[in-house]
Amino acid sequence: MSAKLIAGNWKMFKGPSETLAFFDRFEAPDGVDVVLCPPYVSLEAAVGEEWPIYAQNVHWAAEGAFTGEVSAAMLVELGVQGTLVGHSERRQFFGETDETVKQRAEAALDAGLAVIACVGETEAERESGETDAVLRRQVATLPRHDELVIAYEPVWAIGTGRTATPKLAQEAHALIKSCHPTRVLYGGSVKPENAEELLSQPDIDGALVGGASLDPYSFSTICRTAASLS
Ligand code: PEP
Repeated sequence: MSAKLIAGNWKMFKGPSETLAFFDRFEAPDGVDVVLCPPYVSLEAAVGEEWPIYAQNVHWAAEGAFTGEVSAAMLVELGVQGTLVGHSERRQFFGETDETVKQRAEAALDAGLAVIACVGETEAERESGETDAVLRRQVATLPRHDELVIAYEPVWAIGTGRTATPKLAQEAHALIKSCHPTRVLYGGSVKPENAEELLSQPDIDGALVGGASLDPYSFSTICRTAASLS
């Protein structure tokens, strides 16, 4: 069985000094692939550490008049190895669409970055029976590439403390893999207490962890659980 991938998304938390303090305390065993996604300003502090460092977003243009954006080439120059794209917080609060997610993913892959592309339905979409159609639509726009991993993150489970049941997550992962064969991570309130039951599902290849990745001990525990299941 291949190693699980555990990615920590720090969102808008931890400047450079808190980033270094995290790495003083964080440990992961062999047998798990670990990625950390700090905010842009902390990337430089993080890239000297032992684990691959990804950005949380990337622009599709090589350069230009795009105030506040960062290009793939700039991330590569810093030693960053990959990036998230299409996180639901980008889709909800910053106007991200399937088309811009596709453009960001393509630009990152072309520049040699790995990509974790996030998909997931809202609560309203699930309640109205649209989950399968939404996932199929979001996944269909993503490029096929060896370095592209998908994160299934039901929007109603992100940062809410609500977690998809292992059965529900497994069904969504199986659907995603039937449309786009790649590693699929689960995201949505993963924590040390629920990591084992989620990561034990056959089509859950890892986790994208938000809140619980901010604490080095919680994140270390999740990584240990993942290693024990690989
Ligand atoms: C995320 O930010 O991708 C996420 C899944 O957050 P949380 O684990 O806090 O729900």
